[in-house]
Amino acid sequence: MAESDPRRLTPSVDSVLMSPRVAHRTPILGDRFVRHVVLEVLEVCRRGELEPNQVIDEVVSQLPSAPSGLKRVINATGILVHTNLGRAPLSQAAIDAVALASGTTDLELDLATGMRSSRGASALNALSRAVPSAEAVHVVNNGAAALTLVAACLARGREVVVACGELIEIGDSFRIKSMLEAAGVQIREVGAANRVHLRDYQEALNERTGFVLKVHPSNFSTTGFTKSVSTRELTTLGAPLVVDIGSGLLNPHPLLPNEPDATSTLGEGADVVLASGDKLLGGPQCGLIMGRRVLIDSLRRDPLARALRVGKMTLAALEATIDGPPPPVATALRLTQAEVLERAQALVNQLPHDIDSAVIDTVARIGGGGAPEVSLKSAAVRLPEPMAAPLRTERPIPVVGYLRRGHLLLDLVTVSRQDDELLLQSILGAHRQLSKT
Ligand SMILES: *Cc1c(COP(=O)(O)O)cnc(C)c1O
Repeated sequence: MAESDPRRLTPSVDSVLMSPRVAHRTPILGDRFVRHVVLEVLEVCRRGELEPNQVIDEVVSQLPSAPSGLKRVINATGILVHTNLGRAPLSQAAIDAVALASGTTDLELDLATGMRSSRGASALNALSRAVPSAEAVHVVNNGAAALTLVAACLARGREVVVACGELIEIGDSFRIKSMLEAAGVQIREVGAANRVHLRDYQEALNERTGFVLKVHPSNFSTTGFTKSVSTRELTTLGAPLVVDIGSGLLNPHPLLPNEPDATSTLGEGADVVLASGDKLLGGPQCGLIMGRRVLIDSLRRDPLARALRVGKMTLAALEATIDGPPPPVATALRLTQAEVLERAQALVNQLPHDIDSAVIDTVARIGGGGAPEVSLKSAAVRLPEPMAAPLRTERPIPVVGYLRRGHLLLDLVTVSRQDDELLLQSILGAHRQLSKT
């Protein structure tokens, strides 16, 4: 009896920790974490649910490749800026800049004089050069932080005039309205849900007005009996005008004619423009604030500015995104359907015949980044629907596509060309997994 008692046959913690395949992972993952995984697996073994000679295999399979819970994923959804997949992927130049910034750097030191310098000056200069119509710029943690800082600093205890049709929900139940309230301003809603006129704004202005806010409805579009007031018209009101353009285009984009950009919006007379860094700009999560020097200077001095400021790695990634080669979001926008079709065909040609696969035309979307009305002609590899689940978990890399009419589609416009081989390996892995069961 004792011979088959799983508790007696379970290997010791130390013997598992010292086995070479486990031991060589501890310098990367940390002693404490590896020990924790080993203890859990040994517990399963003790309960008799795992053979003692499988303990090491099981531990190795449970150890992640990096000491972070995040897993690299291939985005094959055809949604360029996918909120659940971390929005914009960084360019290689931005990734390199982050790695460099992660060490000790001259973030606030002028190496020539040995004196303290202004934080992140080169990133701010890059943004200024990209948006010359901005007298000054500032960067905070995200778009929401930009709005919060501007509201708190320019309208604390006073009123913000905004069209009620522009009081949008930006995602995950966060609303512009609650953010403004949390910043300690009073909201003066004007107009109806579908229409607002310049006179609505005029009637709402008074001595308690802090500023007029215009928000770009970046995640939906309205049609029918609708009317909003343009930036240019709003500048005639005489109150400071803040425009939240959302998506972070710095200059007009030929493929996105309806998407507002910072340069044009400032050119139309906005005093301050706000945007996110990780949507159409294709950079790191951050909030860009661009506009009149007096206003931006007062934001910088506000006590909240310190709470909302960005880290050195964000500044580095932003600078490399603006000055460096185009980031993946920008590259994907410019791909032709023919290029994507060709890659999809090449992938399908390499699949074994027992996988029911085909190349099909698709329509890709910008996603959380804006331009909800824009559709991009793209192409996908069509696979059987049951492959969706193993593809999300199979090695070498999880792949996320989407289901359409009983099939799994992997749209290649959002997959970097360098990842085509990895994608192929993952499809083959998922196929093997399914064939086993
Ligand atoms: C996305 C968005 C925000 C919020 O920006 P985050 O960077 O997600 O905080 C605010 N306003 C508009 C119009 C947006 O599109």
